[in-house]
Amino acid sequence: MAASSVLGFPRIGPQREVKKALEAYWSDKIQADELLKVAKQQRLHTYEIIKSQGVDVIPTGTFTLYDHILDFSNTFNIIPSAYAKSGLSPLDTFFAMARGHQKGGVDLPANEMRKWFNSNYHYLVPELHESLEFKLNNTKPVDDFVEAKEAGYNARPVLVGPITLLWLGKASREAKNPNLDTVSLLEKLAPVYVELLKKLAAAGADWVQIDEPVLCMDDGAKYASQFKSTYELFASQVPEIKTLLTTYFGRVDDNVNFVKDLPIAGFHVDVYSAPNALNNVVSAFANKDTVLSLGLVSGRNIWKNDLAASLKIAKDVVAQLGNKAERVQIATSSSLLHTPYTIKNEKKLSAEVLDWFSFATEKCGEVATLAAALRDPSTAADRLEVNERSIKARRDFEKNSNSAVRDRVAAIKPEDLNRKSPFAVRREVQRKRLNLPALPTTTIGSFPQTKEIRSQRARFNKGEIDQAQYEKFLENEIADVVKRQEALGLDVLVHGEPERNDMVQYFGELLDGFEFTQNGWVQSFGSRYVRPPIVVSDVSRPQPMTVRWSQYAQSLTKKVMKGMLTGPVTILNWSFPRDDISRDLQSKQIALALRDEVCDLEKAGIVSVQIDEPALREGLPLRKSDWDSYLTWAVDSFRLSAAGVSDEMNTASHFCYSSFEDCIAAVFALDADMISIENSKSDEKLLKVFTGDKKDEGVNDIGPGVFDIHSPRVAPEQEQFEKIKRIVEVVGFDKVWINPDCGLKTRTWEECTAQLEAMMAATQRARKEL
Ligand code: GLN
Ligand code: ZN
Repeated sequence: MAASSVLGFPRIGPQREVKKALEAYWSDKIQADELLKVAKQQRLHTYEIIKSQGVDVIPTGTFTLYDHILDFSNTFNIIPSAYAKSGLSPLDTFFAMARGHQKGGVDLPANEMRKWFNSNYHYLVPELHESLEFKLNNTKPVDDFVEAKEAGYNARPVLVGPITLLWLGKASREAKNPNLDTVSLLEKLAPVYVELLKKLAAAGADWVQIDEPVLCMDDGAKYASQFKSTYELFASQVPEIKTLLTTYFGRVDDNVNFVKDLPIAGFHVDVYSAPNALNNVVSAFANKDTVLSLGLVSGRNIWKNDLAASLKIAKDVVAQLGNKAERVQIATSSSLLHTPYTIKNEKKLSAEVLDWFSFATEKCGEVATLAAALRDPSTAADRLEVNERSIKARRDFEKNSNSAVRDRVAAIKPEDLNRKSPFAVRREVQRKRLNLPALPTTTIGSFPQTKEIRSQRARFNKGEIDQAQYEKFLENEIADVVKRQEALGLDVLVHGEPERNDMVQYFGELLDGFEFTQNGWVQSFGSRYVRPPIVVSDVSRPQPMTVRWSQYAQSLTKKVMKGMLTGPVTILNWSFPRDDISRDLQSKQIALALRDEVCDLEKAGIVSVQIDEPALREGLPLRKSDWDSYLTWAVDSFRLSAAGVSDEMNTASHFCYSSFEDCIAAVFALDADMISIENSKSDEKLLKVFTGDKKDEGVNDIGPGVFDIHSPRVAPEQEQFEKIKRIVEVVGFDKVWINPDCGLKTRTWEECTAQLEAMMAATQRARKEL
């Protein structure tokens, strides 16, 4: 009998209960017991939802108060000693690692966060060292299982696998070898997993889901022998537990050659993201009795699943396995944590549009329907028919392409991607036109998003003030921002972005082709959630989006006013893309809309524009062999958006901290006149990558951040001067711009004024002394 399962569920609660409770706890408004009560209610509520949708196997242990990787670090005692010795309660020690702790004489910074594979979720990096003593610091995975079992659920505990956990980690400051191969600690960690598995078995678990997404990475191949020894250890020590080994977000490719011989009872593959890789896996397992869990329903998008198509895949697999339906499970491709909670919370979308979507709750229903259809088609016939109608309606809608947009993309010529002259020529023209001093100073775009700005926006959205009143308010804000920058003596000014709720949502709302949710919250990290716009049709720009504001801002000053746009790749990567056409095509459509905007800015007299691409790096596919095709369209899209203007236009781009070591050529290939990067905390690592021995052929002008915008701390003039000095040494005086790490929207005016005053003073000195 084919069973259905989901690999994990959003943690936020249907009405953001968990987020609210967390924030209340952090600001001392509620006690720990109240927070834990809300968490428990939400866990049980999740199980109820999954079960009521008809899913057979319910995952436990995927709920977390911050991050599931941090949960496992905590469980296995991967706790840096400063936190372990802090004297805080276990809960507060956990939160101290997650977000830092500055209270009652304890001063601990947050641990490092990194992006979770190719998603916009962030995990906390396990900090490992040679003498770390792995042990069970708590029994959360067992407790969660027992809680669900006692409430009557047939649960399958979920663990992150030991190889993936170590691989995700880094050498801590306590490590003797800073380049420690973290997976080398496996021999010490595996026995602690055994202990945990024994406890789960004793508590009554028969199956355990163990996530090893590292198997979808090129690195996975390195660990064949570690996989063998570890999973053989588990099977021999805890034979009563059946392991479902799970992979997601990509293809296992050749790794299946050793995975197939592991003593596991089940293997899960992400069919949705790599449909063509399925056959290889099925053949590898054909002569075994391993259960294959088919991730047919996407855990990453919001589109209704084409159940007929999925069912066909499942039936083919069953046939290839000699008609043994019991060897197939139907599942979500990954945890549903990357999708919003339920479409039931959407009141503003039209019935037509809402019918295209499935959020986490509805995806549970899809998984259950597929399994039911596989078991006994008659029990699912009605549901399949309803689904077929929805899919057809969506397909019919998709046929309405915007032919003007499609034709324009098809007509893109290679020269459309190139500026008129090479950088060396542009640079001379621009320095004259922009009249810039040596070491020009600028900022990254946003200035404080004050309470007042947010409250006026809310009032406007509620209809309490009209358009004219709101725009007047924004103009006053801009005028204030301009005056403050002039007083500081900055060279290239910005308008401050007061009109933007979010750097992607703002553009999505002004472009045709996007839809927005009221409650489509997706976890970014901890209690931080975003509501990605959804690309539903061809994207075009009905009218200029930012020209009015940039032009107004420019009218207030003789200094250069920099236009401010979000780049095509970032708009796409931070949205839910459509499923029927390639990301390449979607990104080019957005790029053309932005290209028109850049040209309109130039016509309006703007001579500098910044096109932010902070999400370029995270869109990289998991497998290096797929990188080229992604980077080609990503780079082309950026160039397309920026290249429509004359040589006089200074085009900048901006990246927040990303490890560009392995794809720096793509950043150079953007051919932006200037790029700014987050730098102040990265020990020059990033800086060196951007310059290094490729200094001359590499990047054009560069503005490595000289102070940390995440912190209220004012980096003193001397400290910023030292930074500038080092930057000039590494990059060369002529290429350097001076700016902060990123936008200043999360700072107060008092903080950022002091920070920028110090930056300007340090620059003055650098101009004289360097
Ligand atoms: N222009 C944006 C800002 O200053 C850039 C934000 C980002 O890089 N994440 O806020
Ligand atoms: Zn940034």
